[in-house]
Amino acid sequence: MITAHLTDAEIQLYVAEPHAISQQMANHIQGCAICQSKAANYVLLFDNIKAAAKPAFDFDLSALVMKQLPAPKRAFPWAAIVVSVFSVAIVAVSVIFFWSAMEASVKAVSGVLLTIAAAGALTILIFQVVEMFKEHQKRIDTILSQKTLQL
Ligand SMILES: [Zn+2]
Repeated sequence: MITAHLTDAEIQLYVAEPHAISQQMANHIQGCAICQSKAANYVLLFDNIKAAAKPAFDFDLSALVMKQLPAPKRAFPWAAIVVSVFSVAIVAVSVIFFWSAMEASVKAVSGVLLTIAAAGALTILIFQVVEMFKEHQKRIDTILSQKTLQL
């Protein structure tokens, strides 16, 4: 038998789920007038909460909220177009101005070096494609597992 009174949380648990508390606590409540009166108060309180009318809106809340939301705008992507045109222009100007220098440097570099550079670029490309494929597969698996959970 516990001599100390139960806490409010323990009494609430006893009222809500009588089997969830220990046998010692249940014995204390059965032998203690103070804890019994607290439990009776919580029983009344819980009954009143359950009996209270559920709050209901007498207007269509979703319609009001939807009216407040700004309409989705499909703005023309001016910034992206400006940046793209600027980048293409820079590349074009560089190719035009430095074409002779680029041609000379490509001719100067030996075939072996070019082959090594191409092989390196190809290796990096293959790794990136494999990584991209793995990431895609992982996302698909995640999406499929979420779908399964919802069912
Ligand atoms: Zn008590």
